[in-house]
Amino acid sequence: MKKGIHPEYGEAVIRCACGETITTGSTKKEMRVEICSKCHPFFTGKQKFVDTGGRVDKFKKRFGLEQ
Ligand SMILES: [Zn+2]
Repeated sequence: MKKGIHPEYGEAVIRCACGETITTGSTKKEMRVEICSKCHPFFTGKQKFVDTGGRVDKFKKRFGLEQ
């Protein structure tokens, strides 16, 4: 009778959208992130393409109408 078995805590690979992979410890084996410390504007100091002010949303809507 074993209840509340802890998930296996091992090495996890975090894959970022920019291609960066970070190895860390986690219960999950693989994770996907959109942004990491390497490409985050806060860390790089550069402005990355991010949806500000619904510009992408507008584009998507327009694109949807075209279809
Ligand atoms: Zn990244």
